[in-house]
Amino acid sequence: MKYRRFGKTGLYLSVFSLGLMRCCYSEEQMYATVAKALALGINHLEMARAYGDSELYLGRVLKRLQCPREKVIITTKFIPTDKPQLYQQYLDESLKRLQVDYIDCVAIHGVNTWQHLQLLTRENSCLRVLQKAKEAGKIRHIGFSTHGTSDIIKATIETGLFEFVNLHYYFFFQRHNPIVDLADKMDLGVFIISPADKGGRLYQPSAKLQQVCHPFHPLLLTYRFLLADKRITTLSLGASNPGELDFPLSVADEDGQLTVEESAALERITTTLKQTLATDYCAQCYQCLPCPEGINIPEILRLRNLGVGLDMTEYAQYRYQMFENAGHWFWGKKGDKCTSCGDCLPRCPCHLNIPELLKDAHARFNGSPRRRLWED
Ligand code: SF4
Ligand code: SF4
Repeated sequence: MKYRRFGKTGLYLSVFSLGLMRCCYSEEQMYATVAKALALGINHLEMARAYGDSELYLGRVLKRLQCPREKVIITTKFIPTDKPQLYQQYLDESLKRLQVDYIDCVAIHGVNTWQHLQLLTRENSCLRVLQKAKEAGKIRHIGFSTHGTSDIIKATIETGLFEFVNLHYYFFFQRHNPIVDLADKMDLGVFIISPADKGGRLYQPSAKLQQVCHPFHPLLLTYRFLLADKRITTLSLGASNPGELDFPLSVADEDGQLTVEESAALERITTTLKQTLATDYCAQCYQCLPCPEGINIPEILRLRNLGVGLDMTEYAQYRYQMFENAGHWFWGKKGDKCTSCGDCLPRCPCHLNIPELLKDAHARFNGSPRRRLWED
């Protein structure tokens, strides 16, 4: 296992972090998963108040494992609120559940909208409660997680109030590359959310994706894409049981530059996408926004790129079905809301027939609505 400095927190985190979202429903499952993760060198455990009994079980598990407090770095997350007094309650509860005197890192859970950012920057904010707790030694570092747009994330980082950021950035979603750059310049730790699942459901790759990536497994190849990037500190690994740790961690020591073969395989993915999509390829420039109907055109067409170009249909359906069902966690209306008003058309440098492509994506990917895992 390799370790990297988590930006200005000064902490050294394993390049893989154990996210407890999927093993928070049973203490025994968490015990087995955390025990193995620690044995394999993971030293960062990440959770949220919103993830079931994750804090309660982790407190018990660490006691049972007799894990010295300083050997493990704990991050939890609190949803932003306009009632700052709630944060004091959250903090007291989290410290009690986790059975610790201090929490290493607390993140505001989901700075996803301008309203969230405004909540944090006003005088008596929930963030202020965290800052006081930091002064009192109850927490060590403050950061934020986000599913927001680049401009919101940029503005949040530029407040200078945070030491780390948890965000979405993957080979198949590189929109936030300038954000990773900014975080690096401002010395923030960078935690990548769910590269295996949100990054493409890469533990169950399509036959076509496997063929294009050969001789590499698509999951390991995209982990390597992230591990080779020194701006990034750690990747979340949402194992639900100990058996799910072995395969991802087979690359935990491989944090060097991409090899010629790996770079060639990544290049093949891009070439295949462009060749298969041909004149329907969406270049992800985002110039088509805003849409008066609130449609997230680039994200729908990114999913269409992957579904059509690499047969990543299950992933595209999984993400598409979250539109209109996950609020600010996944913004935008579905493609069937397009009125063909034509506003976006002159802004698209690829001259795409956006209304037709949205209709096509809807037909391919719509189905029963999906919600976020921890809201199920
Ligand atoms: S044509 Fe459709 S996608 Fe484009 S701006 Fe109008 S409603 Fe939005
Ligand atoms: S402007 Fe065109 S190419 Fe750019 S993101 Fe929108 S649809 Fe894709």
